Amino acid sequence: MTAYDDQNIFAKILRGEIPNVTVYEDDDTLCFMDIMPRTDGHCLVIPKTPCRNVLDASDAQLASVMATVKKVANAAKVAFEADGITLQQFNEAAGGQEVFHLHFHIHPRHEGVLMRPPGKMGDMDAIKAHADAIRAAL
Ligand code: 5GP
Repeated sequence: MTAYDDQNIFAKILRGEIPNVTVYEDDDTLCFMDIMPRTDGHCLVIPKTPCRNVLDASDAQLASVMATVKKVANAAKVAFEADGITLQQFNEAAGGQEVFHLHFHIHPRHEGVLMRPPGKMGDMDAIKAHADAIRAAL
């Protein structure tokens, strides 16, 4: 497996070299807003320690990340009065992964509403308001 590259964008976020809109953090994990949100409330959960994805993550990394995913997913469901939550997680380029630091996407979903296409920058004021809403529900 390819080695972890500490120049990936999420490693830079963890080092504070790039700003982020934080939703939640604890000793082991960070949850922040995706800058190209495919749903209102689209956020990402990452471990604070390095691993590329599920394939090389330790059981401890996965356990702490999943605990945060569950916590934030429930808060996002309340905050957006969502009917459901979609989790996305990609492994290696062939699996759809673009940033090579383990992350889970959390998407609040509503009946009959499709996710937006990927790759479009979101409005920062809206993203910050969505983070506030999730934080308030935590
Ligand atoms: P994936 O690796 O799961 O395919 O996608 C990486 C995700 O990271 C995408 O949803 C993309 O919008 C998001 N992303 C890429 N660069 C940045 C960034 O600098 N900051 C934030 N917050 N999200 C990013």
